[in-house]
Amino acid sequence: MFYLKGDLITDGQRHKDKVVGILNGKIVCVRDTPLSNDAEVYETNGVICPGFVDLHIHGVSGFDFMDSAEAFGEIAKKLPRFGVTSFLATSRTSERQDLIDFLESSEGFTGLPSCAQLLGVHIEGPWISPEYPGAQKKSLIRTLTAEEAENVLLPFSDIISIITLAPEEAGDFPLFEKLRSKGICLSAGHTNASLEEIEAAITYGLTQTTHTFNAMSPVHHRTPGTAAAALYFDELTCEVIPDGQHVHPRMIELLFKVKGREKMILISDCTGYNDLKDGEYSCRGKDLIKTGHKVTLKGGALAGSAITLDKGVKYVVEHCGISLEDAVYMASRGPLAATGKSASKGKIKEGYDADIVVLNQDLSVEATMINGEIAYRK
Ligand SMILES: [Zn+2]
Repeated sequence: MFYLKGDLITDGQRHKDKVVGILNGKIVCVRDTPLSNDAEVYETNGVICPGFVDLHIHGVSGFDFMDSAEAFGEIAKKLPRFGVTSFLATSRTSERQDLIDFLESSEGFTGLPSCAQLLGVHIEGPWISPEYPGAQKKSLIRTLTAEEAENVLLPFSDIISIITLAPEEAGDFPLFEKLRSKGICLSAGHTNASLEEIEAAITYGLTQTTHTFNAMSPVHHRTPGTAAAALYFDELTCEVIPDGQHVHPRMIELLFKVKGREKMILISDCTGYNDLKDGEYSCRGKDLIKTGHKVTLKGGALAGSAITLDKGVKYVVEHCGISLEDAVYMASRGPLAATGKSASKGKIKEGYDADIVVLNQDLSVEATMINGEIAYRK
């Protein structure tokens, strides 16, 4: 038995001076009782939290899931440094065969010890709006057909957790119901849908919005678009990129005031440029400029983020008036609940997986534990 000792956060609440017992990869007790002198213990002045879960991440530290099957292992190895204990490998708009290769790599990735765990995949595009491509390749954008759903998506339905699409472009709605019935979460993103089109899509199973406010029709008072629908409809859970570049801090705060921690999810949308020095790069066919946490295409459009989820948690606490308890929820329990993967993860509670991040008082990652093993320690 191994023990963690200190304050802990779980379910959006802080509990002082607790002892967390860990055995065989599981949390076996959470109690106040002092420990015996010979117990193996890691005591922290920081705070013990459920490990972070990134539902929207393309890569990290120079690696991208769409590069090769090997990239999965490299990314899984690097993520504990950022407090991430599980993730959805996220694709981008691509040729059909590249998407199939990505899905096959995902299916074949069996995981590595002391590395972040692949929970499934998030398919972002190609079934999006040419009006809002963001940094996605416009020439590859297309309409989702029943044939593509049947032959590309359904064979991999066990590992597909989220599909980001533009409801107004993505073919017929009954197709949504079919995907939804396989447990796939449908998220509106890179979309020009009106509030009314989003309302219709909700009745066919839309439950989420992708990087809310970015690459979607805006909050306009006479012609409310997807961003307004995201705020308006309680059925929708909203991803947001908290990097200080993609969304104004007051808009993140507004989203939180409306949705609350249960319906808002922090994501990194990291494109793997987090460790790059500032400068100009030619990367995967794109000319990019990196300045701090900002990565843009040469034309000026934002090209995904350069933050990791730990930085996002710190950002919303320091700049958006959100408590650490709520921020941790939106980076751990919340994303698991939104994708139906919360049965054994996302709480510091007896019986749950020992996937844990210890944050310092300055909210940097002090240690990360996956399946009860220390995967990173500062
Ligand atoms: Zn993305």
